[in-house]
Amino acid sequence: MDTILQGVTDLSIDPDPSSVEHRHCQTTSVEEEDISRGLLELPIEICERRPTCLRCCRPEKVCLCPFLPAHPLDVSTCLYIVQHPAEESRVLRTVPLLAACLPPGKCKVFVGRRFNKERNAELAAVCQNSRTLLLYPGAEAQNLQDLNEDFTGEERNVIIIDGTWSQAKDMFLRNSLFHLPKQVQLNSTLSSQYVIRTQPTNMCLSTLECAAITLSIMEKNPTIQEVLLKPLQALCSFQLQHGAQVHHSKEHLLKYGLYDKPLPKNKRKMRRIQKLITNQKI
Ligand SMILES: [Zn+2]
Repeated sequence: MDTILQGVTDLSIDPDPSSVEHRHCQTTSVEEEDISRGLLELPIEICERRPTCLRCCRPEKVCLCPFLPAHPLDVSTCLYIVQHPAEESRVLRTVPLLAACLPPGKCKVFVGRRFNKERNAELAAVCQNSRTLLLYPGAEAQNLQDLNEDFTGEERNVIIIDGTWSQAKDMFLRNSLFHLPKQVQLNSTLSSQYVIRTQPTNMCLSTLECAAITLSIMEKNPTIQEVLLKPLQALCSFQLQHGAQVHHSKEHLLKYGLYDKPLPKNKRKMRRIQKLITNQKI
């Protein structure tokens, strides 16, 4: 599912995430600490880095701050993004943009594949909290829109898994902590506007889009969605102007007969593609 950006020059160079102090975004990872301890022992190498904007974490030349709200959005919901380590190093990341739109402490990021009570006490406490929802689609999940609850009364938490579709599935299945909160899903007709990265189905939204829709519902304020999607739209049109190709989802390509790769002979893979065409949950 990796995306190939052709013709992108400056844009494809991502700021080194380890050098960036996310202003609104706290990153916690035990694995990361282990790695950085090991790195301390290496000889120091001075390298020149492209100046990076501290607010949106983008290279200054392609800073998206003009598209961010002047003041952080006033929300009471706290987002907990559990991020697959591969996602942190991706060229196009939407979580820093999300964090930059929200008040400090309202978007916390935990990087890792496996989480448990001992190593991730804060996240474990959030999972055990009855005011926490976990956004992950499935047969057990209720539509967030249909939950007949008033979310505006008291502070709520929403956990969102950030990774490719298969990474997210693996993280959900293998972390028993994530089975504790009430599981919810979005039943939105919004097709992903985040067209640069291939989405496995048209309904598979980027983390920023998921967060935007979720917060609008929780806070009963549709403007939140508009404000949060503005930097994403700017990012996409910027990348496309600079030669990135539009990546339609596999589902879209198959549906419209545009899928140009040979269909797999492997029965299991073929079944998967058929499921995509019929839009079944896999
Ligand atoms: Zn910026």
